[in-house]
Amino acid sequence: MILVYCELKDGKIRKPSLEALSEARRLADGAGQQVGALFVGAALAGAEEAAGYGADAVIKVEGASLAAYSSDGFAAAIADAVKAKGASVLLAAATSTGKDVAPRVAARLGAGYAAEVTGLSIQAGKLQAQRPVYAGKANATVDFASAVQVATTRPNVFPVTASAKAGAAESLAAPAGDFKAIVKEILAKAGGKVDLTEADIIVSGGRGMQSGDNFKLLEELAEALGGVVGASRAAVDAGWGIPHGQQVGQTGKVVSPTLYIAVGISGAIQHVAGMSGSKFIVAINKDPEAPIFKLASYGIVGDLFQVVPELTQAVKSLKA
Ligand SMILES: Cc1cc2nc3c(=O)[nH]c(=O)nc-3n(C[C@H](O)[C@H](O)[C@H](O)COP(=O)(O)OP(=O)(O)OC[C@H]3O[C@@H](n4cnc5c(N)ncnc54)[C@H](O)[C@@H]3O)c2cc1C
Repeated sequence: MILVYCELKDGKIRKPSLEALSEARRLADGAGQQVGALFVGAALAGAEEAAGYGADAVIKVEGASLAAYSSDGFAAAIADAVKAKGASVLLAAATSTGKDVAPRVAARLGAGYAAEVTGLSIQAGKLQAQRPVYAGKANATVDFASAVQVATTRPNVFPVTASAKAGAAESLAAPAGDFKAIVKEILAKAGGKVDLTEADIIVSGGRGMQSGDNFKLLEELAEALGGVVGASRAAVDAGWGIPHGQQVGQTGKVVSPTLYIAVGISGAIQHVAGMSGSKFIVAINKDPEAPIFKLASYGIVGDLFQVVPELTQAVKSLKA
């Protein structure tokens, strides 16, 4: 069985989890295997939706002790489920939770682990994963030496594919609640915007923005497009009040949106390391020699203070 650890938010399965589930279905179809969608928590309403995305079984580990996220508690629940189901592959989306829990599960199971994979296949019955290495400059193909194989899938890379299956309901016992650490409180950022790493559209600003106030232009464009705002390290370090959580790059976040708009960003290698996986890159820069244009699917050579408001207006008119 291929088991997929799925996350719920507001009674819906999170999109990165649906991507992992869809990919598991594709792999399982090729290998003649079953897919189990695994949910862990105290209230798991909405988990049944997994049947629509290829889950032969919807497996719940439900218990009051799992109401708040706990690294060791969730890792124990997931590792126990892998053993109980005799799963050979465990997938999770490379979200904050997925990246925290999956390696812990792998350690508990003595399993090989591939992080943030961008491609998966089954070769002679074993999982094979592709993952970017050296800050995105090369791709590695990873084989697993262990019987159980654990991988996290990079968000926005694998397509979500509807596929109706039985989704047979199963329950497994929750681990005893003597966890070493639990999350007591989550302070959500105002605005409730999507995390950069999961965003489908990102509008990023660099030193060319000249001030934090000017980022309003990017907020407006992002809002018109339904995206979120990112930044280069130069913009974050400039003291313009842009939090490090918005930084894209080698020492920031690695993003893989469908559309990445780089505004007043030169395209330094450390920035590119965080965004070269974007499907479409649009660069707006007044310097026609800026390295970002080498990477861009579309480039606009011009003054961002003129181009961005016009672009926002054009998007708004198109959407009206
Ligand atoms: C170890 C290390 C780690 C790093 N990690 C990161 C990282 O995670 N992320 C990151 O981003 N950087 C990182 N950097 C920094 C990186 O090397 C660059 O310095 C940085 O990315 C530059 O940011 P920028 O493109 O915004 O600024 P610049 O390189 O100064 O580019 C500004 C651009 O704006 C354009 N511009 C200016 N005015 C306008 C205008 N009015 N209209 C249109 N265009 C205009 C200019 O032509 C220029 O191309 C790292 C560096 C090191 C050494």
